[in-house]
Amino acid sequence: MTENAYLIANNNSVGLPITIDPELCSGCNSCVAACRAHLLFPNPEKGKPPMLFYSEECWGCGCCVEYCTVPGAIKMRDVLHQRVGWKRKETGEYYRIGMKTPPSPNTRPPVY
Ligand code: SF4
Ligand code: SF4
Repeated sequence: MTENAYLIANNNSVGLPITIDPELCSGCNSCVAACRAHLLFPNPEKGKPPMLFYSEECWGCGCCVEYCTVPGAIKMRDVLHQRVGWKRKETGEYYRIGMKTPPSPNTRPPVY
């Protein structure tokens, strides 16, 4: 029995660490080969920009940018917002930028 498995690109993720300009990208897939975390996959349409999966797993290493063959086609975004949380002084609410449903307030004491 054969079953198909599908991956869906998460391009609207809060933690989108990179952006690829489809006008500039040649679809060479050099960035795909360079990605240390194996998050980039070739587009099934030849010549189109690669697809990013599991963007929250991005190391922020910048290898994809370094190895891009077209200057400016791929750019890093600030990935710090994936790791940093904020706390509202007034309410104690703990949240991360862009989260639609912020988690419950963090009541654990700091580890330091
Ligand atoms: S920054 Fe590093 S881990 Fe993130 S997509 Fe680029 S090569 Fe992959
Ligand atoms: S290396 Fe640059 S030009 Fe090549 S597929 Fe990746 S983003 Fe596009």
